[in-house]
Amino acid sequence: MHYLYLNNCEPYGCEIQPGADDSRSGRSSLATVSSHLDAWAWNGDTWQGFVKCMTDFYAPFDITVTTDNPGGADHFELIAAGLAGQLGEDGAAGVAPGIPCGGLTENTIAFVFANHTSDLDALCWIGAQETGHMFGLDHELLADDPMTYLPPLHKSGFEAAVVPCGETEPRECACGGSVQDSHARLLRTLGAARPVPQFGELGAACTSPMDCRSEQCATDGAQQLCTQPCDPTGSCPDGFSCTADRMCWPETTSPSDSQGCDTGATPSMVPALTLLLILRRRDRRASASVRTAFRR
Ligand SMILES: [Zn+2]
Repeated sequence: MHYLYLNNCEPYGCEIQPGADDSRSGRSSLATVSSHLDAWAWNGDTWQGFVKCMTDFYAPFDITVTTDNPGGADHFELIAAGLAGQLGEDGAAGVAPGIPCGGLTENTIAFVFANHTSDLDALCWIGAQETGHMFGLDHELLADDPMTYLPPLHKSGFEAAVVPCGETEPRECACGGSVQDSHARLLRTLGAARPVPQFGELGAACTSPMDCRSEQCATDGAQQLCTQPCDPTGSCPDGFSCTADRMCWPETTSPSDSQGCDTGATPSMVPALTLLLILRRRDRRASASVRTAFRR
């Protein structure tokens, strides 16, 4: 199970320290100096809309989108606040630390510079794209998918479709090959969403043994769940692993953890907002053509 913490930096803004990415301590490789991001500038309804679309985008996958700060626990983080210039990223609508190719790098932070626009479709697109980069996705040429630079602003989800990588024309993908299936790749890196256990079933929340069909309710200090003994060979039902004291507990590690070839600091931009902003040289060509498409 993974966590994606959506942080709007309310009420006082976020302080970001430069350093190796670490969402637990507010450090980002994208910050070159100590930086302050203003809190989310829009109303609560817009925030709830943003939380909903991000939750919907990631619903098929084994990651919990939350607005509760996981604190010192491993988590990915999307900061949706402030202006690009506050992080020294003038011209960007959002930014991610890079595209990890070999697996997941826990505790990274991506950014949506949310205070440039209150357009929910734009915010959702950028939020999904920057987090998608954190989870190993490149840009692709599919208009409905948030990993694209193509219009329209509204994106339906990470699509199960094999399409070329690229911004406006096909190119090699950052992690090799020339095509990407964003849905399939997220299934590989994050895993598939697990059904929520019904009351009393293995893995369901409990307050006493009587809540559980197995009559065993255990805690790991963070959550309290119905458990059951592992079978004699030490195995457990799908999605559960056998702990040291031979009880079945939800698996917490990803199938392919960490490391891999980070493509380095390759901040990316969703062009939705760039019509308001000065384009950075790196993305000028792609963004400029999309900017035309967005003019309205
Ligand atoms: Zn991007």
